Amino acid sequence: MSSNGVVDAVGEELTALLTRLGELADLPTDPVGDGAACIDRIALLERARGALAAAQHTAMVAFGRAQVEAQLDQIATGRLDPEKLGRGIGDQIALAAHVSPHVADRRLTVARALATDLPCTRALLVSGRISEYLAEQIVSLTSHLDPETRRLVDKQAAEAGLDELGRKAAVAAVKKLAYEADPVGFLQRGRTARKDRRVALRPAPDTMAVLSGLLPVEQGVACIAALRQHADSLIATGASGGRSRDQILADTLVERLTGQTRAEDVDVEVGIVLPLDALTDPDSPKTGELVGHGPLPGGIVVELLRRTGGKRWWRRLFAHPVHGGLVGGDPQRRLFDGFLATLITWRDRAWCREAFCGAPIRHLDHITGKRAGGPTSFGNGRGNCVRHNEDKELPGWHHEVLHDGLGDQPHTVQTTTPTGHTYTSRAGPVSSGLPPGSSPRPPRGPRTRRRPPRPRGPGVP
Ligand SMILES: [Zn+2]
Repeated sequence: MSSNGVVDAVGEELTALLTRLGELADLPTDPVGDGAACIDRIALLERARGALAAAQHTAMVAFGRAQVEAQLDQIATGRLDPEKLGRGIGDQIALAAHVSPHVADRRLTVARALATDLPCTRALLVSGRISEYLAEQIVSLTSHLDPETRRLVDKQAAEAGLDELGRKAAVAAVKKLAYEADPVGFLQRGRTARKDRRVALRPAPDTMAVLSGLLPVEQGVACIAALRQHADSLIATGASGGRSRDQILADTLVERLTGQTRAEDVDVEVGIVLPLDALTDPDSPKTGELVGHGPLPGGIVVELLRRTGGKRWWRRLFAHPVHGGLVGGDPQRRLFDGFLATLITWRDRAWCREAFCGAPIRHLDHITGKRAGGPTSFGNGRGNCVRHNEDKELPGWHHEVLHDGLGDQPHTVQTTTPTGHTYTSRAGPVSSGLPPGSSPRPPRGPRTRRRPPRPRGPGVP
């Protein structure tokens, strides 16, 4: 049943299919014995992945179309700024699919391109003869072509027998066809890509992180050459200090970016969750946390504080004894301006609090808006990325504090989307009580349920 009470036959069929697939996952192994049936099943299930992706694409394109039509109505009645046409579509798909809006936008772009300009590629995906990954690559590699040329390349690629090629060979074949179809556009595309240069940081296992830069190729080559040159000269002069070449490369990167003379001397901001036994007992199961980068075993926190020659400061934070969410901080720190903002950022772990998003916080906003009487308080504030901050202003979106985080429940916010679906986002524990060296417990995922949409009509947002 859909959120507006209409029976959706396809939805019911998919639910039954999901149940059946769950049963297949628990079937005993190949009854025939020589494994041939298992291999057949593996091949069929691989094809099913592609067909499932195509079926999801169809739903995404249809949803996008329906939303645009509804938004055109809103523009006609003055309830939506025309410049915001199309906004919120990827965001709703993201919530439904439990992915970030960035991933949802990419999937929607792929779905639309396959539906309009790449029918042969789509047919290969529907029949499970190519993977969703390859379909995405074909969309990307042909994105600079006009629709007519794109359809031509689509046809040529299908005739080239992509489904018989390995992943790399298939991508290379499509790249060649796309280049030959429009060499000037292909080169221009390479120049345009330079505007997308960026640097990113993502967590890695064992309290490590991966710092990456998407750079014009000659600059990337120059960076790694400079690091290698420095490392080789230290090794040649016996000044490596017992470090391996890779270690020197990593240390030099940090030193040159931060201007420090020693890579270890970073200015660390470590949140120490009370009680303070993590500071005094290296075996304590309590954890600290680096803003935005998850929990660190207490022993590592102590080591960091002891080793670094940088500015050393830390902030005591109080966690709820049951759910571990942040509920307050050392009142001494009220001497700092914006302490409340800092506390909310810590509680939300520096990540956007919309369900499944995970982008860095760029705004702190009132969950219940100031105009609606929402207080500027710990409970009514949340950290948002730029995009989810703007979603709040779109018709049909509604946010509500279900728990302020000070009682037995962690801070919980409910988002209602224009279709009437609701999603909840809980603040994760800042104190997870992990033994040193173990992996962090995954945060409890947001739950989704549906309720009937609010009636649409003039004057009803
Ligand atoms: Zn966000």
